[in-house]
Amino acid sequence: MTTFADFGLAETLLRALASEGYTTPTPIQTKAVAPVMEGRDLLGIAQTGTGKTAAFALPILHRLFVTNKQPLQPKSARALILAPTRELAAQIAASFETYGRNLRPSVTVIVGGVKHNPQVRALARGVDVLVATPGRLLDHLQGGTLRLDRTEIVVLDEADHMLDLGFLVPIRRILAKLPKSRQTLFFSATMPKDIGALARDMLTDPVEVSVAPVATTVERVDQSVYLVDAADKRGLLVELLGGAGFDRTLVFTRTKHGADKVTRHLETAGISAAAIHGNKSQPQRERALAAFKAGRTRVLVATDIAARGIDVDAVSHVVNFELPDVPEAYVHRIGRTARAGAEGIAIAFCSADERRALRDIERLTRQTLAVVDRRRPGSPEAVSPREDRQPSRRPNRPQGPRPQGDRPKGARPQDGRPGQQQRRRPARNAA
Ligand code: AMP
Repeated sequence: MTTFADFGLAETLLRALASEGYTTPTPIQTKAVAPVMEGRDLLGIAQTGTGKTAAFALPILHRLFVTNKQPLQPKSARALILAPTRELAAQIAASFETYGRNLRPSVTVIVGGVKHNPQVRALARGVDVLVATPGRLLDHLQGGTLRLDRTEIVVLDEADHMLDLGFLVPIRRILAKLPKSRQTLFFSATMPKDIGALARDMLTDPVEVSVAPVATTVERVDQSVYLVDAADKRGLLVELLGGAGFDRTLVFTRTKHGADKVTRHLETAGISAAAIHGNKSQPQRERALAAFKAGRTRVLVATDIAARGIDVDAVSHVVNFELPDVPEAYVHRIGRTARAGAEGIAIAFCSADERRALRDIERLTRQTLAVVDRRRPGSPEAVSPREDRQPSRRPNRPQGPRPQGDRPKGARPQDGRPGQQQRRRPARNAA
């Protein structure tokens, strides 16, 4: 299993990650960080929500401050990140500040809709990291308040979204001002022809990495969420497992300790269950897995990391006992129950402190989950089911649990692009 330390990132970056609670790289980070550290160009097919910001921000910070430390040049940016929207630009800048908190990079955001002069002043002395939307950046280039001939690294984020917004011409003009000898990282959730052409023009011998598209998995799994007080989750799980059809159920918890607790609770209730996580020996894991495959154990309780190697067909249900910190992990989890084209059922438990995680998941997967409200009437958490949530993208969708067979067909756009306003949130410790 890859760790952040394996990448050879500076100690100070590792410390920042630890204080953010990041324990394990996400798939896009595992694939992208090493080649970017080596200076390679990158073509990354990944959506927002996959952890791609850190996948480029970490190696960039490492390069700017460790391998290639250099003084700032007036009106220049050492690294340039182009993003489609103000919101994304602000998020990216915040990520650089978070991961670089011990390095104190100068980070400037140049976007439309804000005053010009403060931006000019910020650029005058030069900056380490410039995050910009293409239109406003071009204004600065043409106005002579910014030059890009000394920029070392360029990132295009959400390239497909940028082209949708009509930024192709500004992007090409910006490219023309960049030095030939530079490192270029290109991210897009989808790769239609025009994006491919732009990528080919921008990149030199790129490493290509991609992470699982969200849409296909999401479409095949029947999903719902139970709003439930944290203390009632175990009881609810036992109740659900008493119902028909829960033949082979995979339960996900956030921590190893949580996995053990849930397993003990199920066994006490007379349900055969086993836990697999990082504290179990390899033979223990193999035994648990074999028993689950053979149907001797009905329930396997796992953490994300331990579950990575599990390849079991015919998982009838996936239960997200706790929601994952990284929304993409949700997609990986539920993908366990729709193997080989089979349809599966995924149930999520969401307590009050997990609302933000739920919102992030709904944004990434571009769906609104059917809700079953199981909160106690007197509970302090019991507000109406959706009043504290984002307006639904599908306002006509019934809010109750989905009747059998009513799949949300055609409910999401074909391009599989996630919502753009992903929120940053401090991640909690994964197991
Ligand atoms: P992004 O796709 O870059 O927008 O990241 C999605 C979310 O995942 C953000 O809230 C990040 O803070 C979080 N995140 C990124 N990498 C990790 C990691 N390795 N462990 C936990 N959370 C992460």
